[in-house]
Amino acid sequence: MASNRTLTMIKPDAVRNGHIGGILEHINKAGFKIVAMKYTKLSAEKAGEFYAVHKERPFYQELVDFMSSGPIVAAVLEKDNAVEDFRKVIGATNPAEAEEGTIRAKYATSIGENAVHGSDSDENADLESNFHFAQTEMFA
Ligand code: ADP
Repeated sequence: MASNRTLTMIKPDAVRNGHIGGILEHINKAGFKIVAMKYTKLSAEKAGEFYAVHKERPFYQELVDFMSSGPIVAAVLEKDNAVEDFRKVIGATNPAEAEEGTIRAKYATSIGENAVHGSDSDENADLESNFHFAQTEMFA
């Protein structure tokens, strides 16, 4: 996949708190085009697979429990320099450290329940997009 795409998830906390619309508006206003999107729920097994890179971290089980605790919105976003620009739009992992105006500063409640995911590299954007979507579900 080209380096102009990234994968986001609106996490269960933000869905529960009624922020799907606000976050999608923020994403659109930041210049990202939605090329794939679905409302879905991860099983604990799938959440564990998605975050397998964090398997040895102390928060892994908490993360898996949280990410499988309710529905999410998964989406593939397109824009020049998508991965890096989207990381700026979402802000730091810990909302207490996230810059004002970022999605996490506005909508996250804690370092764990931090409203959104954004891929951290082009390689992971590709892997994560294919984790959630078939090629036939992505629209250029
Ligand atoms: P990011 O999502 O900003 O790329 P990481 O890849 O470091 O951050 O972590 C993945 C996810 O794991 C975070 O978004 C957050 O939901 C959770 N997480 C990270 N650090 C902690 C922590 N110290 N305690 C609980 N959950 C955490």
